[in-house]
Amino acid sequence: MSIEIKPLELAARGSCPQEFSFGSIFSDHMFTQNYTPEQGWHEALISPFHNLSLSPSAAVLHYSQEIFEGLKAYRTPEGKINLFRPEENFKRFNRSATRMVMPEVAVDFHLDALQQLLMLDHQWVPDQQGSSLYIRPTMIATSPKLGLGASANYCHFIITGPAGSYFSGGLTPIGVYVADKYRRAVKGGVGEAKTGGNYAASLYASEEVAKQGFSQVLWLDAVEGRFIEEVGAMNICFVYEDKRIVTPALSGSILPGITRDSILKLAPAIGYEVSEERLDINQILADIKAGKVTEVFGCGTAAVISPVGKFSFQDQEYVINNNETGEVSKHLYDELTGIQYGTKEDRFGWVK
Ligand code: PMP
Repeated sequence: MSIEIKPLELAARGSCPQEFSFGSIFSDHMFTQNYTPEQGWHEALISPFHNLSLSPSAAVLHYSQEIFEGLKAYRTPEGKINLFRPEENFKRFNRSATRMVMPEVAVDFHLDALQQLLMLDHQWVPDQQGSSLYIRPTMIATSPKLGLGASANYCHFIITGPAGSYFSGGLTPIGVYVADKYRRAVKGGVGEAKTGGNYAASLYASEEVAKQGFSQVLWLDAVEGRFIEEVGAMNICFVYEDKRIVTPALSGSILPGITRDSILKLAPAIGYEVSEERLDINQILADIKAGKVTEVFGCGTAAVISPVGKFSFQDQEYVINNNETGEVSKHLYDELTGIQYGTKEDRFGWVK
């Protein structure tokens, strides 16, 4: 299927402002296509960024049948634009689609649509240090019906917008509250899928811990409330004194992060042992107290690596590495961002 392009008049096109906050301004164009059972995906179009028109009865507005992705385009020192493992995002998009009873989008076509969009909006990829163009592919259920059931029709779109460093403090360690009352996802549910409801469900706990001065919530498993799952919208890693990196094994309720997967592949190549395990919060906190866990960090596309300086659990505080950024966290951050921005060898062929 070919993609029709209706660009803005040259004179009306903008470029990336010097100052921006994440997720609040968007580049000039967007990609859209529609799905019906009769026609499959059709009307592929790149056109100026615009509001969508939906029936108030559209299924997405009532039963949250929607999925999304998050990836970034990076400006290299030579001015080239790099994508980091985009096919992995599009494969995960399709796994989320299947879980939410939505149609898949061919990975090659998805990549082509994105690359054509970026070609048109290339001036929106910022060049300030640590900045990037955030890319948000999304699919929503558009059939106008309130009867509960999978929608027949869907809209898939891609919007993009500049992003600076995700956390205002950059690589400064964050404080994390271990959720004892709320749960994010349960095995058998939709925690493995990138679907809006997971994020809506996390807001209440995030607001509560923010009031107490913490930036993120550590989520525990919903069955026993004992095993570590994720931190905010990131996966989590623990570094032991022998420099071994340990992350929770995928449990069915953890989102399989692409940054997590990249660390599991990259870390052994730069000298660290890695393992995926079932991690009991009580054991981890005891290991922090005993000085055996020397670093903790969250990992995800938004922040890449986000060191954790302290946990709060049941009125006790557990400080990690003196609340300072550790050398393994910094090393992984430098290696990963080096590959993304094209300043370090791309030994795995991750950059497109
Ligand atoms: N967990 C959750 C719940 C997330 O939303 C994200 C961000 N997509 C991640 C982990 C990290 O995934 P990735 O490394 O692919 O960005």
